[in-house]
Amino acid sequence: MSPSSELRFSLSDLDPAVHPGEDFYSYANGGWCRAHPIPADYSRWGTFLALDRRNREQLRDLLEGARNTPDAPVGSPTQLVGDWYAAAMDEQTIEQAGWDPLRTFLDAIGSTSGPSNLWTLVAHLQKSGTNPFFELGVQQDAKDSTRMIAVVYQGGLGLPERDYYLDPDPFFDRAREAYVCYLATLLDLWQGADPMHREQARAVFAFERELALVSMTPAEQRDPWAIYHPRSVEALAGEIPEVGWYDLFRAHDLPQEFPVNLAQPAFFARLGQLVAETDPLCINRYLALQLLAGFAPALSSAWVDAHFQFAKALTGTEQIQPRWLRVGRALDAGIGFALGKLYVARYFPPASRERTEAIFEQVRRTFRDRISRLGWMSEGTRVRALEKLDRMGTRIGYPDRFRDYPGLVIDRRSYVLNLCRAQAHALAYDLSKIGRPVDPEEWFMTPQTVNAYYHPAKNEMVFPAGILQPPFFDPDMPEAYNYGAIGAVIGHEMTHGFDDQGRKYDASGNVFDWWTPGDEKGFEERIKDLRIQLQKARFKDGLTLNPELLMGEFIADIGGVNLAFEAMLRAGIAPDAPSAFADLTHRQLFFLAFAHLWAGNVRDDTLRLMLASDPHPPATVRVNETLRNVRAFAGAFPILPEAPLYPAHPIDPWGGM
Ligand SMILES: [Zn+2]
Repeated sequence: MSPSSELRFSLSDLDPAVHPGEDFYSYANGGWCRAHPIPADYSRWGTFLALDRRNREQLRDLLEGARNTPDAPVGSPTQLVGDWYAAAMDEQTIEQAGWDPLRTFLDAIGSTSGPSNLWTLVAHLQKSGTNPFFELGVQQDAKDSTRMIAVVYQGGLGLPERDYYLDPDPFFDRAREAYVCYLATLLDLWQGADPMHREQARAVFAFERELALVSMTPAEQRDPWAIYHPRSVEALAGEIPEVGWYDLFRAHDLPQEFPVNLAQPAFFARLGQLVAETDPLCINRYLALQLLAGFAPALSSAWVDAHFQFAKALTGTEQIQPRWLRVGRALDAGIGFALGKLYVARYFPPASRERTEAIFEQVRRTFRDRISRLGWMSEGTRVRALEKLDRMGTRIGYPDRFRDYPGLVIDRRSYVLNLCRAQAHALAYDLSKIGRPVDPEEWFMTPQTVNAYYHPAKNEMVFPAGILQPPFFDPDMPEAYNYGAIGAVIGHEMTHGFDDQGRKYDASGNVFDWWTPGDEKGFEERIKDLRIQLQKARFKDGLTLNPELLMGEFIADIGGVNLAFEAMLRAGIAPDAPSAFADLTHRQLFFLAFAHLWAGNVRDDTLRLMLASDPHPPATVRVNETLRNVRAFAGAFPILPEAPLYPAHPIDPWGGM
């Protein structure tokens, strides 16, 4: 299947009316952005999402094929995926059932008095994927990355981020109003219309607002020490006695004793008080609303519509996505590796893996040279940095061993019950890791995902098959294109191991201070000016960026492009020779490929949502502000030293002297 013109780079993507030194993002992408307005059922659109959408269409073929194979062996990927999809697409059954599939949960919550055992009930809800108050999970121990410990993490909010509860800006006022309205609608749908529901919804909102007040910001959570407070179960019970930890853990079949990371002690201390002092009926409604809001997209049409109206108010999206697309996403989250197995077999060409691996090694060798040259770093720290780089793992395409789902029952009878069982299975799978060694084969993204990640505690990078396609990797383009695209992504992920957050982890993935005070000062001095650059960045009237939230991604973007460019030179590609694509040089093609990755449009409300919570800078910033720190960019196009994007004082903490 050949990718559509939407995905593959072409000269018509450019806007020649813009000067590349004024606004390279618009020069490279203006044509694409004009030709591809945001579809009514998306909150934003871009080459990245266009590829995601194309992948989803391929997955849809697989889902329909599996649905039409009713005799697949029980427990096989085809059976799990096919039955899930069949139940999820059976609108008639779903419509008739209304909220009935949730009856046992709602009966347990009750509506006339407080639950008899709140924390057993919370555990029961956690198994359904509903996480009132906080989340329970597992993580690698920050100080001993070889072992898995339990973690309890702040949560329990129905709006996307704490700012949505606390920021006085009218934009957030509107979001709060929409949320209260949504909660009241859910109560109406559950219990029949009642004017009291609005007041009850307000009380639940007020409860969540108290949680928001003591929640850590996304920027604060980037410091691994700030969210690491290991406790024994006994110490936890002594510190936060209002939470029934023993009941909760017993309901999950966890042993009497194990280490728990109390990620945000101040949050949990306040949570304990709040639960003790809040009207039990309000707590009940909060629990019911958490459940109903989580499952609304899977219930009958009135619920789906209520959920969409709320999403619309938050993101500006005009129209709901088609059902197959929505349920496909939920399936991906629930049993995605079963689907991944089918996906890889059908769609992933092994040649993509080999060529990406070659670019990866070229980028790694380049990074090695750069670390060896760094003037500000002491020798001891340099040795450790090189060790970390050499030991960095890479996984490309799909896992050697696919995760399977032993014992998980998926059938064609009830979509909601399939979702519940898959969630319970996933949580039990996670909790079973406590006290066991880390599984090196585990992936945190499915192979069909259009994305990539660096995992600091595993010191490992993963590039799923889904991303190894145009615009990220194009086998038919000159290799300079691929260095600018997937090469920059590889460099980005590699730099994450050494950004302001990643540098706090050592080669084994332990949070450990391996830097001398002098090195730390050298590094901080180099990123100081990047912070100022982000503070000054102008990309949309009146809105500002939060440098503390964005710093890691910004450092990774800068490092990524610089590394990929040098890696291209290492690979013997002459930057200023013709590239055999149009009349562009390799250097020009490299930078256009990089910019093309971020081509897209975003709705205003969604931009606000991203600014409050997304550690990635907006697309225009990712291109323009990054290139001001890339010396090689100056020679690509005729850019005068006076031009705004001219890299007069490029900063790359891992590049310079
Ligand atoms: Zn990143």
